[in-house]
Amino acid sequence: MKTRFIFVTGGVLSSLGKGLAAASLGALLKARGLSVTIQKLDPYINVDPGTMNPFQHGEVFVTDDGAETDLDLGHYERYLNAPMSHKNNTTSGAIYHDVIAKERRGDYLGATVQVIPHITDEIKSRVLSLADDPNPPDVAIIEIGGTVGDIEGLPFLEAIRQLRSELGRDNCLNIHLTLVPYLGSAGELKTKPTQHSVKELLSIGIQPDIILCRCERPIPDELRKKIALFCNVDQDAVFSSVDVNNIYEVPLKFYDEGFDQKVAIMLRLPARNANLDDWKKLIDDAANPLGSVTIAIVGKYVELKEAYKSLHEALMHAGVANRVAVNLRYVNSEKITQENAADELAGCDGILVPGGFGYRGIEGKIAAIRHARENKIPFFGICLGMQCAVIEFSRHVAGLKDATSEEFNPRSENNVIYLLKEWYDYRAHNLEQRSEESAKGGTMRLGSYPCKLTPDTLARKAYDQETINERHRHRYEFNNKFKDILEEKGMVFSGNSPDGSLVEIIELADHPWFLGCQFHPEFKSRPMESHPLFRDFVEAAKKYKLALEKGAVERLGVR
Ligand code: GLN
Repeated sequence: MKTRFIFVTGGVLSSLGKGLAAASLGALLKARGLSVTIQKLDPYINVDPGTMNPFQHGEVFVTDDGAETDLDLGHYERYLNAPMSHKNNTTSGAIYHDVIAKERRGDYLGATVQVIPHITDEIKSRVLSLADDPNPPDVAIIEIGGTVGDIEGLPFLEAIRQLRSELGRDNCLNIHLTLVPYLGSAGELKTKPTQHSVKELLSIGIQPDIILCRCERPIPDELRKKIALFCNVDQDAVFSSVDVNNIYEVPLKFYDEGFDQKVAIMLRLPARNANLDDWKKLIDDAANPLGSVTIAIVGKYVELKEAYKSLHEALMHAGVANRVAVNLRYVNSEKITQENAADELAGCDGILVPGGFGYRGIEGKIAAIRHARENKIPFFGICLGMQCAVIEFSRHVAGLKDATSEEFNPRSENNVIYLLKEWYDYRAHNLEQRSEESAKGGTMRLGSYPCKLTPDTLARKAYDQETINERHRHRYEFNNKFKDILEEKGMVFSGNSPDGSLVEIIELADHPWFLGCQFHPEFKSRPMESHPLFRDFVEAAKKYKLALEKGAVERLGVR
């Protein structure tokens, strides 16, 4: 087999940035001209993160093929500039689900089904499936979620231990990410947690080849020697991953340490230098903005920034594209009312209402949207944000006072956002998920769908294309019954499904930049290539700020 496998495990504690480290290594190998893919193995029992609370788990990242995945896949896409699929993320839940289904079908021919070999075989087959391609990647990086020592992670570690002997020692590499804390009182970097973590790995038969140390400050040479000695790795196989200001600096820092070179040597990959010109330019541009804008993100999950990971990244990319620093102000929608909206949102040059579920905080979002609409402040509504914009407009411009979404009040006369029954039934049927309890996972419109853009609209101008593809994750849709009356009042339907049956993008005629989309454009934004809608939104915020400074907001053009 041509593909080399790199396994990335983590020790000491979580949140050390294993996903970013894996993605950055991937970016470096790609910059050396290799083809790279990355897979995340998550030890939790959920079949996918689709039903998990973003407060706890962070964003659910959606792929083109409609898989609801871990947010690390977002990093993989952004660092590799390549789309991921359902193959790139798997969980204990998904693995057990399949093994149990096979057992019920009798596939195991009466054998006792056990963690070893049945669960581990299933894990291995999913890892190997990455290379099962007419054009297999040169390198597959496998990130194992959780921390070494977790009970639920054991089958995964056992599977990679076995894979190494099966695939040949030279074709696999184990990288272990640990923490080297700096103890202020002792004035020292401490290696003991790393030693313990490696000991834990060794006890299950895995010898790391490379130790990557997350630390506040660079590791001096004698400490590297010490870590190498105690952890039984080459002295030049201990690397540091120091804290950075901008996450896109990580590949450059790794490069400076010679990380990719060591990996290439150990895996006998062609000796080539990584071309990192565009990464350098990105960091340079990001570090030298020519101005700044402040964007309010009005949402429910404002306490946990991870819940809006891709959104945050997309706005940063748009800032670089516009050469401005984007300051994000997370505003809790539950705190906003019609009366205090102007105060709560004072100083913001753009207002963004992101996706979400459930009624909580909706009235605050609607108040924020009204404020944006009436004061010509650039507005960007994503998924639920677009739905709220439709509700706001229906209530306050079209006079449908009780306008709402079926999600919030199934009995309203004016459900401008509703559940498209045919769609729901079709999905439920297709997925053979008709039972009540499974109705929450699996009946959403998920993944990439085409959308046709209307000429002479903000959307069409931004994309400069007639048909686009964007990723969805929602149940409810715009209710076409209200299309005519809203259009009459100045709503513009600038994006629709090609057959015209689903509204995908709305705008307002009487506003310089007001746009809502039913899909999630943030998933497709790239550091080197900002998403057109985010790019134009930030540009509009820039213009608004300038007009405000000149006292000329009234003169800002309309769409
Ligand atoms: N709750 C809304 C729906 O299900 C919006 C979902 C979202 O914003 N992702 O349609």
